[in-house]
Amino acid sequence: MKKTKIIATVWPVTASKEKLQELYDAWVNIVRFNFSHVDYDFFSWVLQNIKELNESGTTNLSTLLDTKWPEIRTKKIDDKVEIIAGEEFYLSTINEENNIDLEGKKLLVCDYEYILTDMKVWDIVDIDSGLLKARVEKILPGKLLMTPLNSHLVWGKRHLNLPGVKLKLPGITESDKKDIEFGITKDFDFIAMSFVRSRANILELKEFLAKNNAPHIKIISKIENEEALENLDEIIDETHWIMVARWDLWIEIPIETIPVVQKMMVKKCKAAGKFVIVATQMLETMIDNPIPTRAEVTDIYNACMQKADCTMLSGETTIGKYPIETVAYMANILSFTEKSVNYDNHKIEADFGVDNNKRDLVTAAVSLATDIDAKAILVFTRRGFMARLASTMRPKKDIYAFCYDIKVLRFLNILFGVRPVMIEKKSNEENVETAIAKLKDKNIVSSGDKLVVVFDTEKNGELIPSIQIINC
Ligand code: PGA
Ligand code: MN
Repeated sequence: MKKTKIIATVWPVTASKEKLQELYDAWVNIVRFNFSHVDYDFFSWVLQNIKELNESGTTNLSTLLDTKWPEIRTKKIDDKVEIIAGEEFYLSTINEENNIDLEGKKLLVCDYEYILTDMKVWDIVDIDSGLLKARVEKILPGKLLMTPLNSHLVWGKRHLNLPGVKLKLPGITESDKKDIEFGITKDFDFIAMSFVRSRANILELKEFLAKNNAPHIKIISKIENEEALENLDEIIDETHWIMVARWDLWIEIPIETIPVVQKMMVKKCKAAGKFVIVATQMLETMIDNPIPTRAEVTDIYNACMQKADCTMLSGETTIGKYPIETVAYMANILSFTEKSVNYDNHKIEADFGVDNNKRDLVTAAVSLATDIDAKAILVFTRRGFMARLASTMRPKKDIYAFCYDIKVLRFLNILFGVRPVMIEKKSNEENVETAIAKLKDKNIVSSGDKLVVVFDTEKNGELIPSIQIINC
């Protein structure tokens, strides 16, 4: 079984039922909808396609709503602004007209009202996702005088990043709320929160989800600036998941630090029993080319060696010419690399309070499976918690998680090393029998194989976690 999961972003080229089926067959587990380019009608159609495929049993795809979140952009203009290296220009916030010139200099206008007070002389502003770097030369009334460090043609609505600045942006914006409400009605499994900065942001989203009867939706915190890195421990503590969002992180912190930061984040998440996605530009050149570069292959290898839960595709499966081939490359690189990874059943350091008994029992089950060379670990799970624990330990043996609720199944889908299967809840004996029959049916286990089984037994109304060894 391939252990590392794959997220692919969807767009018209990959949105038909046929293409979604191909993505799934090429080993995609989660479909990501990028709400920076929201189109409710289109998204509704894709979600309906996924629903129909999932219901027909030919796919098991989970869905991820990736929010827009507060961001800074330049103003929409009809023209382009040509910035020439060394030729000073103005950066301002207020401009009622469609002006691109001011007092004989070029003018860029952005929508961050605090830019004049937040910036200091010699600070760097990244415009158009880092394609134009400019230094603050002077703070003038109503505008900043900037020196561009390179030349660049700037279109309207370009991203602005202010590295190192603690932004005074709101938590959830009105447009995010609208998107999330849409997501709730459409039964999304995960919400990715862009530009999360602190625990407070996550609590705000949790509260919003709870108010809207959707506390079950799992939150993925995208780490994409310095402030999030400073608050990483509290963010990991509060969130369900982390995404190493390398696109914006790349702009916000020095580029050479990214690989080290990625490795540190993956390590922290595993220790805390939280899940982690490595995202962006993993196979970027396959947007145009039918084969990846050597460096891209090595990048996926590294994420796999670090034992991330998931790797993600963005432009490759939205605007790319070879979306299915890209997924196939990623899946192949992951499954080949996994053969050389030392999955070591590492211990979880996190404290789960009343659930610590479960943590200790799952730890024992996972190492027992290795010791007796079991064929697989079977976990019977109501909320997905014990399967999640087993996954976090990065076990050598594959985990088959049997669950009774479709929402739990879609959540388990994303976990490292876990293959979720739905069954109808009956007695423990019957459940185990059904599970083994299903695995035999798919030639995953055969007579004579040993299995380690983890489940809850009920005694006086209390659930007691237990382990069994079963000879098939
Ligand atoms: P984005 O997030 O693609 O929504 O910007 C991922 C990243 O920044 O890497
Ligand atoms: Mn981003």
